Amino acid sequence: MSEAANSLEQRQTVEQVFGKFSHFAKVLLDAYAVVDKNGKVVKANQLFAQLTGIKMRQILKTESINELLEFSVNDDVIGIENLLEYESPIRIDEVRGKTNSGAEPKNLILGLYPFFNDEKSEKLGAFLIMRDVTAETNLQDQYKDKAIQSITDPLTGLFTRGYFEEYLTGQVTRMENKAAKDRYPISIVMCDIDFFKKVNDQYGHQAGDYVLKVVAELMRKTFRKTDVCCRYGGEEFLVILPAANFENAGHAANKLRHAVQKAQIVFEETHIPVTISCGVSTINIGQESYEETMARSDAALYEAKRSGRNLVCLHDGDQIIPTDRD
Ligand code: GH3
Ligand code: MG
Ligand code: MG
Repeated sequence: MSEAANSLEQRQTVEQVFGKFSHFAKVLLDAYAVVDKNGKVVKANQLFAQLTGIKMRQILKTESINELLEFSVNDDVIGIENLLEYESPIRIDEVRGKTNSGAEPKNLILGLYPFFNDEKSEKLGAFLIMRDVTAETNLQDQYKDKAIQSITDPLTGLFTRGYFEEYLTGQVTRMENKAAKDRYPISIVMCDIDFFKKVNDQYGHQAGDYVLKVVAELMRKTFRKTDVCCRYGGEEFLVILPAANFENAGHAANKLRHAVQKAQIVFEETHIPVTISCGVSTINIGQESYEETMARSDAALYEAKRSGRNLVCLHDGDQIIPTDRD
């Protein structure tokens, strides 16, 4: 059989099978295309033509849907030959669809329904349905960016004071609602850069800003992913440590103190020695507000400053305990 006759036969068979759906396909609100087993589009609606920006006549003349629309997921191109390997219906979210008509790539939800001959012995092609969700995803991304911005300190990239309060309130409420045996401790570390006024005075405000960024970066590296590092104001930082008592939290704070002390902070070719002091304490869940815990961390921090700085002090609820200096 000639190529042309083969192709005609193929098209007719697809038509026969697809004929069953074609009436109902008229009222579909999404773009669709029916491809034969070679990926050639044998039927499509106007929404598909709109999606690709290509005229229907051209669509039906083109050898493969690949030439009309390039699908990719996470930057990996998925050709129609890959899609035709599916033996059962599949829905793929977050598909990028790029046309060569010069239009911007679209964000799509792609549904694929493979169909077979009556004996189910041969795959004839597939029904592809595509929903353009570009507008929705762009809007979601904008909201996400805005939401992230509103809880991020622009200089350091750490969480803001507002987020600190919101997150801690949520955590404390969750713990209060749990039975005592299911609770975990939540500790609060308060850090303050030592003699930071001097850094500004001696090296300039820009150098001071740079120091804040470096300290923030060291915080991100030192604490666990589940710990929430915040810039509370000026050169004061707060960290929420879920599932850590004051001893564990003190250990983490000391790791940060060491990291800051050891860091080679160089701004405009000048080395700036920096140290920090920290105060640590753990929330008595159900017995106090977190503000009371913060007051203890603050008292411990004050004691660290009073005892000469570059120090972590713990507040165990009764008294303040200095930790080892090295
Ligand atoms: P101490 O060891 O007792 O903490 O001494 P200190 O000099 O750090 O004292 P204090 O905490 O009172 O000083 C904070 C200084 O931090 C004052 C202010 O000029 C500076 N500062 C606050 N916010 C910023 C900022 O965003 N950038 C810069 N460069 N400096 C800031
Ligand atoms: Mg301060
Ligand atoms: Mg300070």
